[in-house]
Amino acid sequence: MVLADNLDTIAAIATPIGEGGISVIRISGPSAFATADACFRGRVKLAEAASHTAHFGYIADATGQRLDEVVATVFKSPHSYTGEDVVEVSCHGGAYVTQAILSTFLSLGARLAEPGEFTKRAFLNGKMDLSQAEAVADLIHARSGLSLRSSLSQLQGRLSEQINAVREKLIGTIGLLELELDFAEDGYEFVEKQKAMSDLDEIIGRINKLLDTYKSGKIHRDGVKVVLAGAPNVGKSSLLNQLLNENRAIVTDIPGTTRDVIEENLTINGILFRVIDTAGLRKTADVVEQEGVARTRAKVEESDLVLLVLDASRPAEAPDIEPLSQVAKVIKEGMKACVVAVNKVDLNPTINGKLLQSMSFLKGLPIVRVSALTGHGIDELKQTMVSSTLGGGKQAPESSVLVTNLRHFQAIKRAKEALLLAKESLGRGESSEFVAVDLRSALDSLGEITGVVTTEEILNSIFSKFCIGK
Ligand code: GDP
Repeated sequence: MVLADNLDTIAAIATPIGEGGISVIRISGPSAFATADACFRGRVKLAEAASHTAHFGYIADATGQRLDEVVATVFKSPHSYTGEDVVEVSCHGGAYVTQAILSTFLSLGARLAEPGEFTKRAFLNGKMDLSQAEAVADLIHARSGLSLRSSLSQLQGRLSEQINAVREKLIGTIGLLELELDFAEDGYEFVEKQKAMSDLDEIIGRINKLLDTYKSGKIHRDGVKVVLAGAPNVGKSSLLNQLLNENRAIVTDIPGTTRDVIEENLTINGILFRVIDTAGLRKTADVVEQEGVARTRAKVEESDLVLLVLDASRPAEAPDIEPLSQVAKVIKEGMKACVVAVNKVDLNPTINGKLLQSMSFLKGLPIVRVSALTGHGIDELKQTMVSSTLGGGKQAPESSVLVTNLRHFQAIKRAKEALLLAKESLGRGESSEFVAVDLRSALDSLGEITGVVTTEEILNSIFSKFCIGK
């Protein structure tokens, strides 16, 4: 384990900048208490206070001027978020006062924390592993019940437990092969190779299970990207408004993230649906509209779910059908989830048989009859959207472990590739040393997830995405 180069004492505002009830300024490191005591005026010295106690007082600046009444909470190493001595000062939540208190800490020798540095120190000091540290960022960014649940499970170390269990098993297998090396001449070889082979099968099986969770794991974490597609005037915008009615998601702009498309967010059964586009689809000579069609196709390609909207009140016309069939092709090729919403059933209560007949490419897709005007069928549409994306509408049980993070997914995939190579070599009767090289490479890939194997590059790329104060 790399030890934190924790000679510096770091400070930062831990709450969002702005006006609010309270704000918290966090200070962590060997001089945390000395720095805080140099400006905190209360009944006790924080350095002498017991860990996990809160103390009322005020903060004074370098000239002795009182800045604010505060409550200082003391956490003594190693029983703190970072594992170091930590003081959290809760002051009134104003942008100026918060900054003034931070400046006072900095003038007393603390250094401004880098993005994610508190959490990085927590990792380096062994308070949490790397996948848990990443879960902190995911939890903070969670925008739906589902993403909250999966990031909390990762924060509590469920993914790490599974990864560690697979690594343990792998270490055992490497041990077997090494044993075989030592006793190669005594006839151990055959038995141990058989055992190593069945161990490898079991490990690959577990790895495959983890890899299989990524699709729904990604949906848990990032939500479902939805494209509403259909000819102009079929009611796409009306339908979106109807869906948003009771389901608008809590969205805050996260500083540092840019969104290149306008996105409407809604949650259904705790799942975040991110509607990324509602472009109209119609074959046309108009160059601008043609671009719209091409754009919709591109959007369909990057979506998780396509909501194809048809109009029950009028027969489909040729200019509508052709682009729809092209979109249907993209859906099938990309194995996208798709729900067909036949809208305006208030105008025509029976599905227009001709409408669907003229579009045989819709065969096999779930079809829901709705009216964006009256709200008819909207609940069924929502449930169909859920079941189409999460397969049968079943959500992963609380206890199940999901891979939600692309970095983890790629590391597990690399581990699998190395394991398959090892299996092949073992099958070919290659020497154990040779097989062990691939097994160790798999072990390292898995270790990157929890951070037992890590590089400065990996750490920087993870923690630089955090905000200052985390
Ligand atoms: P878009 O171009 O596909 O986004 O279609 P709009 O949402 O703008 O709707 C086109 C027209 O159809 C508007 O006049 C809507 O009021 C109307 N409309 C949309 N949905 C329904 C519906 O379910 N029933 C009826 N009767 N009219 C609808």
